[in-house]
Amino acid sequence: MTTNHNRLTIHEAHKLLKSKELSSVELTKATLERIHNLEPKVHAFTTITDELALRQAQKADEFIAAGNSNPLTGIPVLVKDNMCTKGILTTCSSKMLENFVPPYDATVVERLNGRGAVIIGKSNMDEFAMGSSTENSALFTTHNPWELSRVPGGSSGGSAAAVAAGEAIYALGSDTGGSIRQPAGFCSVTGLKPTYGRVSRYGLVAFASSLDQIGPLTQDVTDCALVLNAIAGYDTRDSTSAPQPTPDYTQCLTADIKGLKIGVPKEYFVEGIQPEVAAAIRAAITRLEELGASIEWEVSLAHTPYALAVYYIIAPSEASANLARYDGVKYGFSYSDTKNMWQAMEKTREHGFGAEVKRRIMLGTYALSAGYYDAWYLKAQKVRTLIRREFDQAFTKYDALITPTSPTVPFKIGEKMDDPLQMYLSDVCTIPVNIAGLPAISIPAGFADGLPIGMQIIGKPFAEETILKIAYAFQQATDWHMRKPNI
Ligand code: GLN
Repeated sequence: MTTNHNRLTIHEAHKLLKSKELSSVELTKATLERIHNLEPKVHAFTTITDELALRQAQKADEFIAAGNSNPLTGIPVLVKDNMCTKGILTTCSSKMLENFVPPYDATVVERLNGRGAVIIGKSNMDEFAMGSSTENSALFTTHNPWELSRVPGGSSGGSAAAVAAGEAIYALGSDTGGSIRQPAGFCSVTGLKPTYGRVSRYGLVAFASSLDQIGPLTQDVTDCALVLNAIAGYDTRDSTSAPQPTPDYTQCLTADIKGLKIGVPKEYFVEGIQPEVAAAIRAAITRLEELGASIEWEVSLAHTPYALAVYYIIAPSEASANLARYDGVKYGFSYSDTKNMWQAMEKTREHGFGAEVKRRIMLGTYALSAGYYDAWYLKAQKVRTLIRREFDQAFTKYDALITPTSPTVPFKIGEKMDDPLQMYLSDVCTIPVNIAGLPAISIPAGFADGLPIGMQIIGKPFAEETILKIAYAFQQATDWHMRKPNI
């Protein structure tokens, strides 16, 4: 075949598979070949599962031959390396878990496997999903396929870079403060963070449990809906997963957004925002206005500026509790050349965790300590409630809110590594959404000097359909999402 299989979307590949113009084995082989060609430049994969992928592809072809296929059958997917995959390394890009092979699959992985997906590997990330550039990976840094000297964003940087480079048709990421949307924006792909509770977290290595959520990184909105169809829904093994029924998310993709009310919160056009980013987002919103949406250009969400501070108390607090399990006894890295158990634990954590993870554990332990709990953690929880209420209030008037995904285009590798506060700022626009548990999608909305700009659309709780609809309408009318890096 002469067509480039590696640039197929899920829905395009599905058609070809169904009509038998293409087999899953052919598609998988082409994908693996591209991965092996590009990985020396991109470094998106922590593990490439060639053998498993080919076995799954063969099985998928049998499925399809028997007439049993569904939209994900036989299509290669990349899974972020913080989701448990039975029998496959799950490192969280940490030395602590460098040899960890889970005995079970995360629910999302089980659901993909149940639909005949083909797992091609695990993707690089910031260690334990803490970061915005993938530079905190203990293994290596992923490079942005649009310009290899730049970061792909993070923490799901491996997933986003691979989809952008055509090394994966789609990928899964996780988002605690922006880790799906920010890298999606930086790599010019489509990334959705579902409502908190919409997708099961069972088998996702916990970072901050009240914020973490798994979602798709895809080449367009249709694919995003198809993946959400597969992974969303109640799971008895995750008590925070929502019992709400899941609609068919492809049903809302009609491109008719006439009369939808969209608010543009001014606080998200933060001080220091790159002018090209602000201009591109305003132009994109104008496009939506031309398509029939009614836009309110001057909405105010006054508590927005506090979200970052709230996040950097709550997320580290939860992380400090979640990461207490890495003691060198239960699983993972263990430093045993010591005199006693206490020293073994100490050394295990000293050598097993990287600098950012240790910083978060210290911040969280401090915020939760008896003398400071009220002043920091409790206060942060109260402000969290105010932020959530402010969104609730805004959603009595608007169907969706639109903001930039990040205040800048992708920065240079190394540029922000010595300045954690600067790094944290790269998520100012995405973090409030996690604080309030809302769904939001980032879609390609332009370029500045060849570097991608992402637009974020935020919806009401469980209104994924509304934001998918708006994003779909935008993609029907523009071609930003069709542009691919020349790599
Ligand atoms: N960049 C944010 C952080 O470092 C968000 C990370 C995430 O969403 N996992 O915590």
